[in-house]
Amino acid sequence: MTEPDLFDSENSVLAGAKAVFGNPHAGSEAYRDTLGQLIAYYERLMRETRRLIRRSDREELEMNRLNHRLQELARELEFRATRDTLTGALNRGAIIEQAGIILAGGSLALIVLDIDHFKRVNDTLGHPVGDTVIRGVVGCLERTVQDAGMIGRVGGEEFAALVPGLSLDAAVGLAERMRLHIAGHAFAVPPGMQITASFGVSWSPRGTGFDQAYGHADAALYEAKRGGRNRVVSLTGSDLAPPLH
Ligand code: GH3
Ligand code: MG
Ligand code: MG
Repeated sequence: MTEPDLFDSENSVLAGAKAVFGNPHAGSEAYRDTLGQLIAYYERLMRETRRLIRRSDREELEMNRLNHRLQELARELEFRATRDTLTGALNRGAIIEQAGIILAGGSLALIVLDIDHFKRVNDTLGHPVGDTVIRGVVGCLERTVQDAGMIGRVGGEEFAALVPGLSLDAAVGLAERMRLHIAGHAFAVPPGMQITASFGVSWSPRGTGFDQAYGHADAALYEAKRGGRNRVVSLTGSDLAPPLH
């Protein structure tokens, strides 16, 4: 069975018109009938074509709108997958991924910090105030680092800054500025309660694994806590494993 032709009726009018046109004996009556039919079908085709063009324009607009929304959703999804919801800083997974990318191409200065005696904030002022302090700390870090690096929240009140290509000395200087920024910031806590953080800094050459880079910074942070808090301590691989002679 052959497929029905969409233009069956138009085809038959056209065939009729061709037959009249090809017939040298066709009279004016036949020509008039045929022309009338052709006009009617031609007008109908134009109406249909206009309607289809309008519909396809509408559908194109709708498709563009949906495409735009899809791109928005993809960006939103990417943001949610890589961001910490409380602070908007990078989440732990994103920090690990970014550090891996940086270390594959060059050196990395890694700063980790932990808010001092944070349990006291929660215990005396409540969890919501604690959350405000966490957001405030991230604000201080972002204002200090600006475009030089990335800030992430790697634990409850533990953060990391990744600074590619910075020397250890420069990273210690940056961590010191972060420390002063936090210690001098006016958090929404009673006047007697100063918010401070302890910092550990490591510098790792290209090719170092994230765990090793983080391990050194974390060991330095532990030293900063042990040394009395509200301070910056740095540690490189050579501090942990002296070269064999
Ligand atoms: P240290 O100076 O040794 O760091 O003392 P600390 O009291 O800060 O001790 P620790 O770092 O172990 O405290 C972590 C506390 O952070 C415990 C937990 O209740 C709190 N915390 C973790 N995540 C959140 C959070 O999202 N919001 C709030 N408000 N508190 C959190
Ligand atoms: Mg902690
Ligand atoms: Mg703490």
